[in-house]
Amino acid sequence: METLILETHSLAETQLFGARLSAALCSGDVVALIGNLGAGKTHLAQAIAGGLGVDPEIVTSPTFVLIQEYEGSVPVFHMDAYRLNDTDEFLELGADELLGADNICLIEWADRVADVLPRKQICIEIESTSETSRRILVSVPQPRIREFQQKLSGSGESKTVDG
Ligand code: ATP
Ligand code: MG
Repeated sequence: METLILETHSLAETQLFGARLSAALCSGDVVALIGNLGAGKTHLAQAIAGGLGVDPEIVTSPTFVLIQEYEGSVPVFHMDAYRLNDTDEFLELGADELLGADNICLIEWADRVADVLPRKQICIEIESTSETSRRILVSVPQPRIREFQQKLSGSGESKTVDG
């Protein structure tokens, strides 16, 4: 995996980042969204889904529903692992049939189900650096890093870290 690091200074910049990121995604991708309460996972999922042709207004936090499906240019599944007790619960929801299938999965609190996510995931970690700023780490499989760099250029200062 290789990591791009960038910083956004407003919700609007994070939304622009999400829209650009969506252009680098393809069917079968699993996008792990990781970050504390209020970091911006749901707003970012909204922007990514919007970029995939989903009406952002129907993208809401799946905290209670756990899995939501949206119709975009590909089917988009939006999941939230916050309330799950273990990975078995995640699999019982049918997640294993969705991950890596002909869709794009956006998973909030993905760190809670990390054991069962594909290794070739797109991993997005969001950290609050102030009330309105977020440091965003984007880790992707090495062969895809150039495309992500290109699609994300302009989404704030970024640097690449091996890892
Ligand atoms: P939860 O874990 O509770 O589901 P979350 O990570 O999904 O939280 P959001 O529901 O997306 O977080 O809320 C993020 C909040 O941070 C929103 O109120 C948003 O307006 C605010 N915010 C401020 N600045 C930014 C920024 N640069 N990027 C993203 N969100 C921001
Ligand atoms: Mg959320």
